[in-house]
Amino acid sequence: MELSFYSKYPFTRGAKELMSSAKIGDEFQLMEIAKRRIVDAIGKGKIPLAGIELEDSQLLLQVASYAVSRMIVSLLKSRYYINRYAIAEAKRASAYMASDSDENVLSVARELGVGCEIDKYYSVRFQDYLRYAPKSVDYKLVNRKMSQGSVMLRRDEFVRVLEEAVKLKIESELPLSTEGMPKNIKEASDEVRGSIPKEPQPAAISIEKGEFAPCMQKMLEDLKTVENLSHTARWALAVYLLNIGMKVDEVVKLFSTSPDFDESVTRYQVEHALKRGYKTPSCSSMDSYGLCVSNCGVKSPLAYRRGAFGKLSAKHE
Ligand code: SF4
Repeated sequence: MELSFYSKYPFTRGAKELMSSAKIGDEFQLMEIAKRRIVDAIGKGKIPLAGIELEDSQLLLQVASYAVSRMIVSLLKSRYYINRYAIAEAKRASAYMASDSDENVLSVARELGVGCEIDKYYSVRFQDYLRYAPKSVDYKLVNRKMSQGSVMLRRDEFVRVLEEAVKLKIESELPLSTEGMPKNIKEASDEVRGSIPKEPQPAAISIEKGEFAPCMQKMLEDLKTVENLSHTARWALAVYLLNIGMKVDEVVKLFSTSPDFDESVTRYQVEHALKRGYKTPSCSSMDSYGLCVSNCGVKSPLAYRRGAFGKLSAKHE
């Protein structure tokens, strides 16, 4: 593989092997690029793409900066920061794959252990699809074409599935052991900590046992444990919270613990849901979205709340 491939996809085995023997001349520049990589990932949610017309020495720095970033982010000792970093790395790889050759994208897929073939469609092995498909209604199996044990996708959908696989790979490999990390990496980590937003604290919301429907309770718990919720789950939860009387600011704050949180986008979506007067999805819709987690014997998560309390009322601080 060419160096430009590894600079785009530095999480691959080949990039790792390259690093084991590479000689990086300018260590100061390497640390600066690595710190910038994490500050951009955590602070802006996005790592800018480097030009592929760079000289080899610069491409090598890009690959090395990924390796150093992993050490620095491990020292931040925060699952929230790690997940946010992994999301930005995955988006970076995805942006490259969107315009890369099929040959290169297939190489990335093989690296990630995603069984696939390209013919008329981009077909992904069933079990890999189940593992990596985004949790949204568009990717539900009932909405997909299947053939011979594989799920048929468009190219952009295929890249999206690979993006998820990259994210999970990076998340699962971090944090690295921080024992014996060099002093300059520790200093870089302290510097990064001072340049990134503070880790958001979960919004104070008291949920008495049985107050919220189990599906909503589960999503609220997932938010607190910094799990990424699918777009559909966020929408259902936001609409539900609005329907029980929470204010836009309170709903937005609840979502702020999500690693891919973007305040302006979230606020826009919550205000939009309020303005359009969306109603909480019925239990059968929730089931079709894959969000129902129990059999409560009600028709709507709101009815569950009514059943528990006789009337709708928000209880939050
Ligand atoms: S049955 Fe309805 S209220 Fe209960 S978990 Fe499923 S969707 Fe939620």
